[in-house]
Formats: sequence, C-alpha cells, structure tokens
Amino acid sequence: MKYMNRQEFEKIDAFGIGAPNDAYAQYFINQSFLKPLTGGKTSVGVANVTFEPGCRNNWHIHHAKQGGGQILICTAGEGWYQEEGKPAQSLQPGDVVEIPAEVKHWHGAKKDSWFSHLAIECPGEETSNEWCEPVTDEQYDQL
Ligand code: MN
Repeated sequence: MKYMNRQEFEKIDAFGIGAPNDAYAQYFINQSFLKPLTGGKTSVGVANVTFEPGCRNNWHIHHAKQGGGQILICTAGEGWYQEEGKPAQSLQPGDVVEIPAEVKHWHGAKKDSWFSHLAIECPGEETSNEWCEPVTDEQYDQL
C-alpha cells in the first residue's frame, strides 16, 4: 500500500523513522531517515531505513573478502530494488531481498510512496561499502 502522507505512514511504520540520515545524505537523492535497532551487543547491525517518496540511494556495492552482503526486510510502504543489468523489483511489506557481497545495486522508495526496510549488515571479512553514481531521474522515472 502506498502512502504519500508522512503522518499516515508513521502510524503504520512499526519501527519508527528515526532521525534524518545526514551522515549518508551525499549518497542519496532526496531525504532518507535512519533508526539503528541494535546497539553493538552482537556482530550483526540492524537499522530501519526510511525513504520519502522519490528518495533512493546511489548505486553501491557491499564489498567483502568473505561473507558480507546485506539483507533487506521490507516493512512499510512501497519501494524498489535493482541489481545492475536486471529489471527493478517492486517491493512490498513482507518482501525479503538478499544482496550478495560484490553485487552493484540500489534501493529506495517509489516516486509516490514512503518506504521502509530493515537493513541487516551481514558479517564478513574486510567489509566496506563503495558508493557509485546516482540513479538518474531518467532511469528512475521509467519505473
Ligand atoms: Mn545496499
């Protein structure tokens, strides 16, 4: 279900949208929000990431020498996930996306809905993120 109204969306986003994701704003088009859900007591980091309508992250790669990658668990609104060279996948609450290390991809909201997913950082050896070019309006508007 799509939500354009922030207050309506916040009522059904069980994990809460948290704070503006200022630390990563340079790697996003439009406004995203981040709410860390774990506090470092285990080796797995989980955060709720929320995208306003039209917001998406740049193409990026979760690097790892071994293991690593990212799991997205969609929780509210509607969004997109796309791997390089493949069609974009429409995302709804309940969808799970497994992103292997070294696969270039992006994720974000639809143009006409807020969207939240949990992001799970899979432990690995020598993990790092590489941020690449933005998803252009031309690419995004075709979805
Ligand atoms: Mn990712």
